[in-house]
Amino acid sequence: MIIEGERAAAASGQTYQVVNPATGEVVDEVPNGGPEDVDRAARAAEKAQKGWAKLAPAERARILHKAAAHMLDKVEEIAPILTREQGKTLLESRIEARRFGENIAWFADLADKIHGEYVSLPDTTTYGLVIRRPIGVTGAIVPWNFPLTLAANKVAPSVAAGNAVVLKPSSTTPLATLRCIEALIEGGLPEGVVNVVLGPGTGEAIVTHPRIRKVALTGSTPTGKQVMAKAAPHLKKIVLELGGSDPCIVLEDANLDEAAKAISVGRFFNCGQACLAIKRLYVQEGVVDGLLERLVERAKKLKPGNGMERDSRMGPMHTETQRAEVEAQVQDALDRGARIVYGGGRPEGDGYDRGYFVNPTILVDVPDDSRMVTEEVFGPALPVMTIKDLDEGLARANDSPFGLGSSIWTADMKAARRAVDELEAGYTWVNALQIAHDELPFGGTKESGFGKEHGIEAFHQYTEQKSVVYGLV
Ligand code: NAD
Repeated sequence: MIIEGERAAAASGQTYQVVNPATGEVVDEVPNGGPEDVDRAARAAEKAQKGWAKLAPAERARILHKAAAHMLDKVEEIAPILTREQGKTLLESRIEARRFGENIAWFADLADKIHGEYVSLPDTTTYGLVIRRPIGVTGAIVPWNFPLTLAANKVAPSVAAGNAVVLKPSSTTPLATLRCIEALIEGGLPEGVVNVVLGPGTGEAIVTHPRIRKVALTGSTPTGKQVMAKAAPHLKKIVLELGGSDPCIVLEDANLDEAAKAISVGRFFNCGQACLAIKRLYVQEGVVDGLLERLVERAKKLKPGNGMERDSRMGPMHTETQRAEVEAQVQDALDRGARIVYGGGRPEGDGYDRGYFVNPTILVDVPDDSRMVTEEVFGPALPVMTIKDLDEGLARANDSPFGLGSSIWTADMKAARRAVDELEAGYTWVNALQIAHDELPFGGTKESGFGKEHGIEAFHQYTEQKSVVYGLV
């Protein structure tokens, strides 16, 4: 773990192993922390935050830029660590490691741009100000699918706003995160401003720790509900970035080549283990065949393999449980009458026997009551549904407990406008690849959670407003 700038063992002395999902090999052994370690990290963060918040904002910005630049110099060292612990391809790991440093730099730019308000009051002897202050110590709880970008989404706005952080990576993906935070510290981030605790027992301890004033969780919807319940007695601020089942609507006037490219990336990137991912595809009847043909062509190029190998285009699933879950969801659709038009099953042959590999899979005739439609599918399987028109597409797209991302492909601006207005989601892409941009606030609605990451909104959410009255006596 990292507490007060130093590598630290668990108070209990316990450890656990991190395993490579492509080979089953042990990658490393790390501390298995618990509540005592969270307490130590929270106290270290509280001490560091006082000094950090007192720095001139421009100095904080300078320190964060320097630390981010140092971390970005280490991308080639960090990317293989991420591939070995998570399974994703080296290309995906490089993109993700770069995004970590870029995100720190993006929020560093905001560190000295905190604005407040002057407010006139009813008399002539007083006036009001609304200022923004840091919250104090914040907690960050991260899943295994994008360990680095999802950590940066929380750490970057928090520290830029003058807070300190206790960060908990997923138990199965701690290694690249440790190295990223260590690189920030080597690059000049003061000790204790970001601390890392490891182990399954540390999540709940962060949520209930009295010195940690806000917690941001990215995880599944059931975990979000548990965190909300545990945070409630402490009246703790929370941000919940939870599961999704993003619909994508393709109308007959869409540019099918571009749509197929974006849908393929949107579904199969990171072996389909993404929160923002195209998980339900609704295609107008006249273009179903044309789009399927293009999607199948693209899926054929996605060779599963060990992420460390140059010709692998899709890594393994992260765990055996994850693979079993997606396979069960596909089987459920087949049992209800769906058909596989591409893929299905596991790849066979050398190198596939010890990892959790699956083939990219595309299905049609998937009924609306099947698990692939009603649940989140966290793997590379895409159900394709036929719709008559936009009305049907919007109704079926919205018939989901989730509301994270959504997208539409059409040349008709009126149809696009209706989708933007009516899709129940925190994000709608119109004729564009589902990428979450640093510049735009990102977060879900319905059972996908609440609160924002990215954008100036996330930065503001790591501050508290305070009203001030100045008397002129
Ligand atoms: P998970 O909910 O099992 O775990 C997420 C993190 O929460 C882990 O660090 C875990 O140890 C911790 N945790 C688990 N139970 C906890 C508790 N009771 N109290 C405190 N912490 C607890 O999720 P996962 O399987 O690691 O990740 C996959 C899920 O994350 C999917 O549902 C996916 O959609 C979601 N996700 C959402 C977003 C988003 O931005 N909305 C992004 C990526 C992933």
